[in-house]
Order: sequence, then structure tokens, then C-alpha cells
Amino acid sequence: MSPADNDQSEAELLKALLAERDLPCPVCGYNLRAIASSNCPECGAKLDLRVGSTDLQLGPWLAALFAGALPLGIVSFVLVIGLGAGDPILFAVFFVGALAYTMLLAVLVRKRRAFWKQPRKRQWWLAVCSAIVSLVLLLVVIIMSAFLLV
Ligand SMILES: [Zn+2]
Repeated sequence: MSPADNDQSEAELLKALLAERDLPCPVCGYNLRAIASSNCPECGAKLDLRVGSTDLQLGPWLAALFAGALPLGIVSFVLVIGLGAGDPILFAVFFVGALAYTMLLAVLVRKRRAFWKQPRKRQWWLAVCSAIVSLVLLLVVIIMSAFLLV
């Protein structure tokens, strides 16, 4: 089956699905019942078939992301306002801190499917571990900068 054939059969499946169902356009909310093409007649958005799950609960993953994003914002803000600009070593401490948080967030985003496969309890445990690592890293950056300022 070629990609064009696959697109054609998906378009047919989409039309069959919507032939007798009241489903809203994910972009504009227009009722897509009995549409004639793979585009929303109201807003023109291209539509496709997907498999979803109601089991995907993003709470622990978002908490883990927030645990890394909040200190990244703090460290980056301090870096941008130039607290470390006068001292190259202080600048390097904040830069390395921002880099570490960025890497933590990149790992969380890249490994999200492995994260979501874990049981819910373990996901929360990983979110707490992420928060602890973020807090320890933030304390290290603050303590190092305090020593450098003295
Ligand atoms: Zn629409």
C-alpha cells in the first residue's frame, strides 16, 4: 500500500466515522457530521484520524516539567538581568545552572512516553524526585553565587 493509498483510505475512514456522528472540529468546534472532505468546512483545518486514550493523565509529568521550568526561569532571569555579568565565574555558575535545567527539561520531554508508561504512583514519585533535584541544583547555584559574591 503506497502512502497515497493510505491517505485515501484514511480519508474514507474519516468520512465513514463522521457520516453519522456529531463530533466537533478540534480547531473551531464546528459539528463535522457528514462532511464531504478531510477539511473542516467552517475553518478549513485539515483533519486526520488518531487514536486517543482517556488514561493519559498529564498531572505528574506537568509537575515534573514545572519543577524544572520554574528554577530555569529564576536562573535565566538572574542571568539575563546581569547579576553574574560583572564576574565571569558567577556568570558561568548561572549559565551552567540554566544549562542543567534545560537538559533536565529536554530529558523529560524526550522520555515522556517512557514516563507515561510508568504506574501513576511511580510517575508522582519521579515528579517529586525531579523537584528535589531541581531544588538541590538551585540551592547549589545560590550557595556558589553567595560564596563568589563574598
Ligand atoms: Zn474547524
